[in-house]
Amino acid sequence: MERRKFIGKAGAGIAGIVAAGSAPAFAQGAGEVKWRLASSFPKSLDTIFGASEFLARRVAEATSGKFQIRNFAAGEIVPGLQVLDAVSNGTVECGHTASYYYIGKDPTFAFGTTVPFGPNARQFNSWWVQGGGEALMNDFYKEHSLRALLCGNTGAQMGGWFRKEIKSVADLRGLKIRIAGLAGQVLTKLGAVPQQIAGGEIYQALERGTIDATEWVGPYDDEKLGFNKVAKYYYYPAWWEGGAALQVFVNGKAWEALPKEYRAILEAATAEANTWMLTRYDTQNAVALKRLVGGGTQLRAFPRPVMEACHKESLALYAEISAKNPKFAKIHEHMMRFLEEQVLWFRVAEANYDGFMQTGRKPAAAAKSPAAKK
Ligand code: CA
Repeated sequence: MERRKFIGKAGAGIAGIVAAGSAPAFAQGAGEVKWRLASSFPKSLDTIFGASEFLARRVAEATSGKFQIRNFAAGEIVPGLQVLDAVSNGTVECGHTASYYYIGKDPTFAFGTTVPFGPNARQFNSWWVQGGGEALMNDFYKEHSLRALLCGNTGAQMGGWFRKEIKSVADLRGLKIRIAGLAGQVLTKLGAVPQQIAGGEIYQALERGTIDATEWVGPYDDEKLGFNKVAKYYYYPAWWEGGAALQVFVNGKAWEALPKEYRAILEAATAEANTWMLTRYDTQNAVALKRLVGGGTQLRAFPRPVMEACHKESLALYAEISAKNPKFAKIHEHMMRFLEEQVLWFRVAEANYDGFMQTGRKPAAAAKSPAAKK
């Protein structure tokens, strides 16, 4: 009895100290929080879907399991392209998706992912984290009851799989290509016929010749989807995705209701997942590209006149949209001004270093094949 009294008093004493603020706020016990995350991607794409699984694991680890985020693949709660609505209307607390899937609502959504001839992954991260991009985009997302946290990037994407070679701008005429977003609108100006086809149906469409070409992401994902079996030519680069960024969108009310320490943990975990996804793509793409080329895939660069024509039409499209949409105009101007500075800087040290590493030196001995060593 005496001992219990003592423990009781001691306990009250500790509680008093905690209340006085000498222990971390965490010790006061932010309660259990259980969120559902709707992903726009299938589980089979373990890099892009894997990023949200990684995020959920890190959040659980950092909160001793008190803040749990359960992941749902595309179609489990809502179809992949309805994730943003599901977050916005509170069906789920958060979602992992590509902002540019929603340009039908407002083309300004494109800037959350990327736009044709936009920044590469490094430059996008710089724009978002240091250049004011995050504040600008979250101002825009707020109108849709959303809070966005940067969470992943694919790096520069491949231009996709073509059944026939593209040797000139004229070869784009009549080309039926599965491609989404603003890039589709650019290609329309050059006579191509963009198609919207859900991820799971692309392979069949390409196999049957319903489409002539498709783009997706890069070697690792594209190989999983089997496009190399039904198209021979693998083009680069995707001038429309110099680096495609992903976000975790959080419902505005859910964000406000989230304890401050959980917000900080979620911000830290999404930043970590952002790195996790890009590094995983960079690592896996290198290996997958070798496998594809070894299996007969023919690599092709888009001819420079094709790149230039697409660039010209992209600028025309930006001017058209900006004339009608002040929100688009404001963010476009901001991103491109930032990008101009970045390109000037990158062409000095970064590009010259990369150029020499790629073509000016002998590969490291460890990278040579056993046959080459002999
Ligand atoms: Ca793509």
